[in-house]
Amino acid sequence: MAADGTPGPVDDHPVRSVVVVGAGLAGARTVQALRAAGFTGRLTLLGAEGLEPYDRPPLSKELLSREDPAWLRDELDVDLAGVDVRLAEPATGLHHDAVGVTVRTAAGRYGADAVVLATGASPVRPAGWDGALTLHTAADAAALRGAVGPGRRLVIVGAGWIGAEVAGVAAAAGTDVTVVEAGPAPLATALGARVGALTAPWYARAGVRLLTGTTVRQVRPGGVVLSDTELPADAVLVAVGVRPASGWLGGALPLAADGSVEVDAGMRVPGTHGRVLAVGDLAARASRRHGRVPGGHWDGALREPEIAAASLLGRHGPDGPADPAPYLWSDQLGHALSAYGLPRAEDDVVLRGDPHGAFTAVWFEPGGTTVHAVLAVDRPRDVAAARRLFAGPDLPRLDRAVLAEDRPLR
Ligand SMILES: Cc1cc2nc3c(=O)[nH]c(=O)nc-3n(C[C@H](O)[C@H](O)[C@H](O)COP(=O)(O)OP(=O)(O)OC[C@H]3O[C@@H](n4cnc5c(N)ncnc54)[C@H](O)[C@@H]3O)c2cc1C
Repeated sequence: MAADGTPGPVDDHPVRSVVVVGAGLAGARTVQALRAAGFTGRLTLLGAEGLEPYDRPPLSKELLSREDPAWLRDELDVDLAGVDVRLAEPATGLHHDAVGVTVRTAAGRYGADAVVLATGASPVRPAGWDGALTLHTAADAAALRGAVGPGRRLVIVGAGWIGAEVAGVAAAAGTDVTVVEAGPAPLATALGARVGALTAPWYARAGVRLLTGTTVRQVRPGGVVLSDTELPADAVLVAVGVRPASGWLGGALPLAADGSVEVDAGMRVPGTHGRVLAVGDLAARASRRHGRVPGGHWDGALREPEIAAASLLGRHGPDGPADPAPYLWSDQLGHALSAYGLPRAEDDVVLRGDPHGAFTAVWFEPGGTTVHAVLAVDRPRDVAAARRLFAGPDLPRLDRAVLAEDRPLR
């Protein structure tokens, strides 16, 4: 029985061997967190890219200023010494039962007491758009780098986080950039149309053409087809979102409708005797404060492995697993965005600051004082305040009238 009262292969069945599937941020951090917590047993790390773990955010933000990947050994002191590392051996299947787990690859089988799934997410590419680029790996970044520059025409499908970041970087390098977004505003899926629309003017100021409410029907050599016209392009980047990379699991685990692996607050997959855990973009975590927290952002992949390691080793504190607030950031089109919490579509949004400049958006439960999320744009003080607000055991509560007056966020 674990310290937090949940059953698991801990005190009564100590974990002596762990396979970590996925050698990205969440996988590398799982290895690091287990070792930091004193785990001395056998560790196997399976990867699919043939590269040691590296960081993805620089792939867009530093697309043209950095050619080598930002290795996690340099960025986060990840040390894989003593780990059985197989960077080009993707897992192809999983079996688990009450006594152990087995992970299959094309080369063999890896048995262990427990497995941590960290296979992340893959970019969505609509059927038939084979000629389009995506941006998820170092190899993707290298291909995209070769497609931008003065005199080159780049069409980006999707004004989400990655589309916006690449648009700014490519336009600054002299690329002729058009962003085509099917929704009513940039970032509308993540932030809602009202807040997303506040970012629309940033595009023209950065020299980027933005078409909202416009659907790309097809990607062809030489451009994209819209409903009534064609847009010529030397390269097309599809940035319409990602899907959890769970296909390799077959029917071994139940999956949520979006393909993610739902886990409890300790990152354990229910019904697996505590032997199967999932972290990072693949996982959707149960949070006391935020409900179901989907993957998709760097901070989750950084922090969830510590929770998973504590679950495996029975090291949660008396209050149970840590419950970090969802956090994301983005540098796009000359602006710095940071958000804590999870906005909900039905929330009331209150703005403070200058909606045409530096502003903060606060998502309230409808008609109430409970805050679900805070987004600060170019307002570092509000970022620091939001971090403190979301550090407590409950969701923060704020007075809307005081908030709109633009006094310090408390
Ligand atoms: C260009 C870009 C910019 C980003 N910028 C930001 C940002 O500014 N802020 C932010 O909060 N987040 C950002 N993110 C998101 C952030 O990088 C991810 O949330 C984070 O990388 C998730 O880590 P992960 O380890 O869960 O998944 P991943 O990083 O996707 O790593 C999963 C790894 O598992 C491997 N794998 C897949 N299938 C298998 C298999 N069957 N067997 C073995 N290995 C497998 C994959 O090849 C991959 O290497 C960005 C992402 C990208 C792509």
